[in-house]
Amino acid sequence: MKDNLFAVAMKRGRFILASAVLLVCSFQLGAADNSRGESAKEGNAASYAEGGHDRVNDALHFFDLYSTDYAKRVVDYLTQRGLKGREAGTKEAVKAMKFIVKEFRKAGYEPLLQPFSKEELEAAIGKPKEGKAAYPLQQCNVVAKLEGSEKDKFIVIGAHYDHLGYIEGVGIHPGADDNASGIVALLSLARMMKAADIVPRYTILFCAWDGEEKGSLGSKFFVNTWPSDAVAPGCEASLKESVVHYMNFDMVGRTITPENPGVMFAWNNNYPYLLKICQAAQKEIDLPFQVLLDERRGDGRGGSDYAPFSAQDIPFIAWMEDFMHVDYHKPTDTPDKLHWEKLRKTTQLAFAILYNLSTVGCE
Ligand SMILES: [Zn+2]
Repeated sequence: MKDNLFAVAMKRGRFILASAVLLVCSFQLGAADNSRGESAKEGNAASYAEGGHDRVNDALHFFDLYSTDYAKRVVDYLTQRGLKGREAGTKEAVKAMKFIVKEFRKAGYEPLLQPFSKEELEAAIGKPKEGKAAYPLQQCNVVAKLEGSEKDKFIVIGAHYDHLGYIEGVGIHPGADDNASGIVALLSLARMMKAADIVPRYTILFCAWDGEEKGSLGSKFFVNTWPSDAVAPGCEASLKESVVHYMNFDMVGRTITPENPGVMFAWNNNYPYLLKICQAAQKEIDLPFQVLLDERRGDGRGGSDYAPFSAQDIPFIAWMEDFMHVDYHKPTDTPDKLHWEKLRKTTQLAFAILYNLSTVGCE
């Protein structure tokens, strides 16, 4: 990766900046570097069309802030037997939630909690449909905020941390791909954005959702109670008026073609710029990496936490597997089967897109 970074940087005549950034990245993750901050801020004035190319290259300078060792540590923690598959409503899910809080803190955030009881959930989204299990008694989303210059406009990034738990006669479901991999992407983006030391145009909310496996309960609660004092104190505008973009990660650690890994990029096609940003980023970055396209509408369809945002036609991007693997929702969804390079490339591409969206704007 470093070779690649140097090659691209030299091509662009930015050798000195890249060298300095690499040194900083290598030795002191999270350290502020004003020169980078200033150059990134300058990009705010230009539109995407005018300056997208340069900004993708700016984003490239921070790619080495992604760490596969860190990714492995996160997955190991979340998939350990002691966490019993992180079923929403269990004390093991609370343990997973506390781990995520700690990781956000280590990255320099003071995370907000959005706890919700069964009764509060019922009031927000209605009772479970007939034949469906009752909601868990208590759940909790975790939200880390990176304040932007437009305080009341938000980019929301989400991944669920709960999984299926222990099922009698089947066993513990570790959920390495579903969705420890998505939590890696979420935490890594939060770390990278903080270390990149930019003040984004929009406030970014990094959200670890609870209760996805029981019907995207955490994200539905977030959407249906917006604007909530728990996550956006002072904001009075509706979700549609204040959330300019949503990005979801659910199952991004496996691939059907390990020799040439792929990821599925689903986007709300009511907003064609999303595809353009992705294609531009991929072209500039030149990662050997397949991005398969899955066109969607903002009509609420979908089986993960982007669906509640889609239902309100929020511009969204959802990263997911390029196929449904045989270990899906089985005790065999284990860490040894993850494709770490695919996870890295997915997160880095998402970072380039987020960097662009958050420094320039979503229009
Ligand atoms: Zn999932």
